[in-house]
Amino acid sequence: MREKLKLRNGARMRFKGTFDRYGLKTAYRGLPLVTVCLTEIQDMQGKDLCDHIWLNETKGFRELGVLYPGDRIAFDARVGAYLKGYAGREEEEGGGQYVDYKLTRPTKLMFLSKVGRRKIYIICEKCDHVNGITAERCRRCKIPFEEQPLKPVPQQPPDPKLIQRTLEEEFTSIMDSIGVKVK
Ligand SMILES: [Zn+2]
Repeated sequence: MREKLKLRNGARMRFKGTFDRYGLKTAYRGLPLVTVCLTEIQDMQGKDLCDHIWLNETKGFRELGVLYPGDRIAFDARVGAYLKGYAGREEEEGGGQYVDYKLTRPTKLMFLSKVGRRKIYIICEKCDHVNGITAERCRRCKIPFEEQPLKPVPQQPPDPKLIQRTLEEEFTSIMDSIGVKVK
């Protein structure tokens, strides 16, 4: 049980977590819902609260763009209790249900740090699901990738400080900075 979350049951507060991977869970109807696994959950003071949590991929997550393992994010969420385990199975069979704690309704998501972007995903053209690079078909909508054009993974805009200038641009900018108009 997540004892440190239990102490905060019912509270809405800010957390830090590290993106680990995307998952899927069965929906009441339609395609499976996308979930997000975060590890190293801490409060904003850096106190460890639990080793991992699964959250629904809410609008706030989608607005961050595609997440990569190791990205560190901050978010507000509510601590709540839920029943874990399988209903209808007796305790003596090693089943039964017990109360555990989870985080719900994540909002105000932002990056604390990002890892380098690399080619580890195939994004489904049909349903936008982020699949591992070795997938042959979308895990969410099941459509094989050879039947769909590959969607490029959105790239981050380059850091302006890292944009390579041509020698001429470099020269012009140096002259500019000392007040000499080249053209
Ligand atoms: Zn798909």
